[in-house]
Formats: sequence, structure tokens, C-alpha cells
Amino acid sequence: MLLEKYSIGVGDRFGYQGAAQLRALQLAEQQGVKVVPVWNKSNREHSIIGTNPEDTRREADTAVKATGWKEPYHVDADHIGINNVDKFIPYCDFFTLDVADFIGKTAATSELAAFEQSSAKFKGKLHIPHAGREFIVTDEVIRTIGTKYLYAVKEASKTYQHIKKNKADDAFIIEVSMDETDAPQTPVELFFILSAIAQEGIPLQTIAPKFSGKFLKGIDYVGDVRAFAQEFEEDILVISHAVSMFHLHKNLKLSVHSGSDKFSLYPMMHHAINKHKAGLHLKTAGTTWLEELIGLAAAGGDGLIIAKDVYTQAYARIDELCKPYASVVEIDHSKLPAPSQVAQWTSDQFVSALRHDQSNPSFNIHLRQMLHVAFKVASEMGARYTSALKTFEDSVGTAVTGNIFKRHIKPLFIG
Ligand SMILES: [Zn+2]
Repeated sequence: MLLEKYSIGVGDRFGYQGAAQLRALQLAEQQGVKVVPVWNKSNREHSIIGTNPEDTRREADTAVKATGWKEPYHVDADHIGINNVDKFIPYCDFFTLDVADFIGKTAATSELAAFEQSSAKFKGKLHIPHAGREFIVTDEVIRTIGTKYLYAVKEASKTYQHIKKNKADDAFIIEVSMDETDAPQTPVELFFILSAIAQEGIPLQTIAPKFSGKFLKGIDYVGDVRAFAQEFEEDILVISHAVSMFHLHKNLKLSVHSGSDKFSLYPMMHHAINKHKAGLHLKTAGTTWLEELIGLAAAGGDGLIIAKDVYTQAYARIDELCKPYASVVEIDHSKLPAPSQVAQWTSDQFVSALRHDQSNPSFNIHLRQMLHVAFKVASEMGARYTSALKTFEDSVGTAVTGNIFKRHIKPLFIG
């Protein structure tokens, strides 16, 4: 099973916005750009909300039927490993093997020796076609990369073999992710990681490295955009070179786990993928839930009351809600308005504070991040929340579709 050139993760916490999200991809199609959807929901998210991979599959199938989507679509077992993959296997056809926790663990001496031996031919100047600089590879470089990453690749291999044994051959897509770690991978590291992945026979189609800078949840990139631009372009070139050197899948591409809304990066990412005719997978899971809140708040009445209740509870439980996301949220508590103040807000005020519009002086990145991780509060509201989604379906759906199409797909894939 081959993944299309452009794909986008369409995360959906509660499983109600499948059709609204697909409509955004249909708008892209009308403009001549095919972007296929990949429903992704991590094990962490399933366990916070109490859903199962089966629910995600059902949502995807239902949305596809409802909208008449004719192109491929996939369901991603996002950030899984050997210990939790089993329940995803029957319902998913895309597996993101997260091996970040295994970076730095040492592989067996014999495995390391084999890796060093197979890598020795790249010693000296490593020429990556079209990259503006040369990379120097020494014994030391190879040994350091092997020590740092080989164990993680072997772990990915173990999980891949397990999936392969339990799922009809070739009926799935494999991604390897190393993004949830502290240090970014350099282009040279990426090259040798791909070499190790090829040697393990993992039919990799997307790889998610850790990039420089901060990818916080639901807000823009924090870091040096130009440094990112260089890193991103070099990674594209490394992948293209690795594909020919190691006979990896021809459609192998970068997967950017964006944490959503990296708007300042989209123009240069668009430029780079166009320039090198590269594919891209963008994971942008969380904003649909925020668009639901925006849609509810915008609708006024009970919708606005629910949005305010979510805020009040989230404010009181902020530490608990942030805990699973500790490394990817940075909230200044002093910048959060008191719930008593928010209680007085109009629809417009609530929407202005939450909607990701950096030109709006009322936009508040602290409030946005807090609400981003507050979906647990809404899930505990149960039917009160989900029936409001149905009551205010039009307002919510408009917010969801508009957000994905205008803010994400257009600047990134269409330009
Ligand atoms: Zn990730």
C-alpha cells in the first residue's frame, strides 16, 4: 500500500468532524491539489478520552461515505510501540512506530559492529546532491550515530515484524517517528538512520525526525525560522539521496509532527517541497477540537456557555491537564484571564482570544494552549458536549473546514 505524495493528519478528539475535515480536502481537490487524509489518534489520546481505534475507523469510513470522498484515506496508529500496537492492528492501515524513548540505548556489540562496517564506505566527504555544503563522516561520527540510534531502529523493526505477522502483507503504511525527544537529528544522523532502517528491511514511507525549535501545541513555531528552513530542505535532500543509496520506497517523505499551527513555517515548507518535488505528510491533530470550541462559542447561547464552562474547569485543573503534554506546552499562568472575567465575555471576545489569528491583539497563546490540552474536560461532559456539537453543527463545521483549508492546506500545499 502506497501513500500519496501529499497527506495530512486529520485528528479528531471526539470523532464528530470527519465530514467537515474531508470537505476541506475536497476544496483542495477543486483547486487541483490532491491531499489525502490520515485519521490519527495516539494511544495517549485514546486513553484520555476513553475511545478505541475501532471508533476512529468507524468515523473515517462514515465521513468518507457521507462526503463521497473518492480518493484513498487511512487510519493511523499514532505513536505506538510493541506494547500497545495489538489493539490498533485490525483497524489501522498506517502505523507510526514511535521509538524516541529508545534513542541512546545501546545495541548489542555485534549489531553495532555490523552497522559500523556497513557504514564505513561513507567515510570522508558525504556528498548530498543539491545540498549547499558537504558533510564529513568519520569513524567517530558513525560510532556515535550507531550508539545513539541503532537500538531505536531495531525496536522499530521488532514492531514492524509484529504488525507484518498479524496483518495481510503490504496492506499498511509504515512511519518511524523520533520527534518526541530532546535533541534534533542532524541531516547526517538522518542519513545513517535511514541506512539502518533499510538494513532492517522496514518498508518505510514516512519519517518524522525531531526538528530544531519548539513545536508547542496549537501555537506557532518558536525558534529560528531560517535555521529550520535549511534543516528541512537538507532533510528532503538526504531522504532523496538515501532512497537511491539504500533502495528505500521511492515515495519516502518527511512527516512533520507539527503540534498544529506552525504557520510561520508553511511558506518555506511549501517552497522547499515544490522546489524538490518532494512529498509531505503533515500531522496536525489538535486544532479541530479547538475549532469545535470556537464554533460553539461563536454560536452563542448554550454553545457559548459550554465553551466558558470548559475554560473554568480547565483553569482549575491546569496542572493535571498539562501533565501528559508537559514538554509541548508553555503556559504563563499570569496571562490567563480569570474565569470570572471570561464568564462576562461575548461570543466575539471568546472567539478572538482563542482563534489563531496573530494579527488580532486579543488573541491569547496561553489561553489557546491551555484549552488545547483541555479536551478531557469536554469528554467528561459527555452528552452535554456532544449533543451541542450536533445542535451547532453548522457553526462548528464551518469553523473546522475553514481552519484546515485556509490556514493549513492552502499555504502549505497550494501556495
Ligand atoms: Zn509526534
